[in-house]
Amino acid sequence: MSERSLNEYIDIMERSITNIRADIAHHAKGNVTLLAATKTVPAEAVNYAIDNLGITDIGENRVQELLEKYDALHKERLNIHFIGRLQTNKVKYIIDKVCLIHSLDSEKLAAEIDRQARKIGKVMDVLVEINIGGEQSKGGISPENAEEFVDSLSVFTNIRARGLMVIPPATVSREEMIKYFGQTYKIFIDIFQKKLHNDNSCILSMGMSDSYIEALDCGSNLIRLGSALFGKRA
Ligand SMILES: *Cc1c(COP(=O)(O)O)cnc(C)c1O
Repeated sequence: MSERSLNEYIDIMERSITNIRADIAHHAKGNVTLLAATKTVPAEAVNYAIDNLGITDIGENRVQELLEKYDALHKERLNIHFIGRLQTNKVKYIIDKVCLIHSLDSEKLAAEIDRQARKIGKVMDVLVEINIGGEQSKGGISPENAEEFVDSLSVFTNIRARGLMVIPPATVSREEMIKYFGQTYKIFIDIFQKKLHNDNSCILSMGMSDSYIEALDCGSNLIRLGSALFGKRA
């Protein structure tokens, strides 16, 4: 897929962005952030989306790939998110580069993010990843433990919990997916909106290319789109 040229990326993006924005306009319940999930997409194509298509938020899910692209990205108005699994020993490489880590799921990782953020005088925004399908193979906090985990983060002065992220099981039916999204939304409301007096700056990162319409219908306010925007990955 490294064969795909910049012009091919541009053609795909120009065709897809209009539909994506129309879908968001139809299904969003409020302000929604469209995050471009940029794994395997070269920096020049990402920059085109930033400069020409109004993309303000991108997400990388591998530290190495983020570091490789970082210098080349047009960063003036760009928010870079980290959306993949994060190893504790790699936090130090991204702490100064990202605005939001979507995948917090252990106290050990929280402690390291807090430590590295303090070193550079930053308060790092994080989302707690929820393992809504109870999948062994995936990261994330179980729904039952979510509230306790979020509460436990209050001891970390250089971390701010802003909301939740979820990746539902891949192979389920539409109905099951909607059920998982609905459950995640309820946890989100219980933990964040109620406690923080409906502070509408809380983030529910939910929905990818194959599921963003359902996710928006279920109350997502941040969708992470890769293939819907950039075309299928190899
Ligand atoms: C790759 C990725 C996405 C985007 O996936 P698509 O199906 O291509 O939209 C979203 N979230 C995470 C965490 C990812 O790794």
